[in-house]
Amino acid sequence: MGNLSVRDAQTCVLEHVLIRDTEVVKLEASLGRVLAEEIRANRDQPPYDVSAMDGFALRSTDLAMTPVALTIIEDIKAGDMPGKTVQAGQCSRIMTGAPVPAGADAVIRVEDTRMLSDENVEIRIGVDAGNDIRLLGENMRNGQVVLSNGTEITPGVIGVLATVKCAQMKVYRRPRVAILSTGNELEGLDEPVDPDKIPNSNSYALMAQAQALGIEPVLLGIARDDPEELAQFVRRGLLFDVLLISGGSSVGLHDHVRPTLEALGVDMHFWRVEMRPGHPLAFGTTASTMVFGLPGNPVSSMVCFEQFVLPALRRMMGHSHLFRRTIKARLTHPVKIRPGRTEFIRVVLERNESSRLPGSYVASSTGTQSSGALLSMALADGLLVVPSTSSGLAAGESAVIQLLDGAVFQDEPGIEGGT
Ligand code: AMP
Ligand code: MG
Repeated sequence: MGNLSVRDAQTCVLEHVLIRDTEVVKLEASLGRVLAEEIRANRDQPPYDVSAMDGFALRSTDLAMTPVALTIIEDIKAGDMPGKTVQAGQCSRIMTGAPVPAGADAVIRVEDTRMLSDENVEIRIGVDAGNDIRLLGENMRNGQVVLSNGTEITPGVIGVLATVKCAQMKVYRRPRVAILSTGNELEGLDEPVDPDKIPNSNSYALMAQAQALGIEPVLLGIARDDPEELAQFVRRGLLFDVLLISGGSSVGLHDHVRPTLEALGVDMHFWRVEMRPGHPLAFGTTASTMVFGLPGNPVSSMVCFEQFVLPALRRMMGHSHLFRRTIKARLTHPVKIRPGRTEFIRVVLERNESSRLPGSYVASSTGTQSSGALLSMALADGLLVVPSTSSGLAAGESAVIQLLDGAVFQDEPGIEGGT
């Protein structure tokens, strides 16, 4: 139980994730949740062969020689049922999504035709049977599994759920998370400014990190560095699924978190990870609660959340993709570090305009990498990961960057065309 690598510590944390309860939510409130059931189609989609275009339904054999004039026998709108069978030399005007009439085996889009009179249309090109027809059941077959258990509910998934008339569904429950800050020096957000005190920022940064995952945590407040008071707070915190404690996990005379947790029956699994920033970090569990003793330094606290708390919370919510997306980017400057610990460097990313690799990025440090420099975290697009075996990276060297942005955005559409 000595010093763990980041990977081993992550593995240990994830092995202790238990909670996978489910609940039923309405479709309108399901975005971002994870399905805890399999979803099947309740009918064939489309329910019949439909036109993919506004145009004319006809017999492809009539188009052996083009242009050819055909007689229009019917108008079929979406929602209509065709009444007539298309014979040789005939066609029906048809709208996108309308059923293809009997006799017809292809659709010609209106752009490839020319009206000769109210009843006659000239078809200018030939096509094969099946042209611009969406076949019955092409999207989904009645009874087919369309979404599997564990699927994250994205806007596209919501569309599929609505298609199969799934107005409510079983999803994994979100964990209940409590956040506790510790330290005699801390000043609450609602307290008057005292120049000798340290504002409690960790409670709020951690709150926001949890909120970004769709979790609404409960802030327990600030516990003084007093074993009795701390124990009272921790007892409340142990009623939650996850308890995040900021500060007091070191081995200083007034760091009471570890002994307090142990006294309250928390089984401690580790309290040191070979990383920077991120020292000290304690992790323990009871039968129903995961407890993280996070470092008090504001950047360390956030970086530890990213590496350990985030994947645990995501697993609890049923996700299979637990980690931040990583990309590779070239460094604009050298980085020197002491080997032996995985180092996380706050960086900004910029598009590499000079590169012969379009779409690639370059990374630059956001400035001082002190673990108290919260501004450098606020400005960061990502965390550059320097492996524990490395003693540094040269300018121009490629490195792995964890994107701190949940979704992946960029400043330009990145598509060609336009003026
Ligand atoms: P600790 O881990 O308790 O030794 O705290 C390390 C450093 O982080 C100290 O300088 C604390 O003042 C600072 N710190 C601890 N908790 C917080 C907090 N909730 N918000 C901002 N800074 C904190
Ligand atoms: Mg402290």
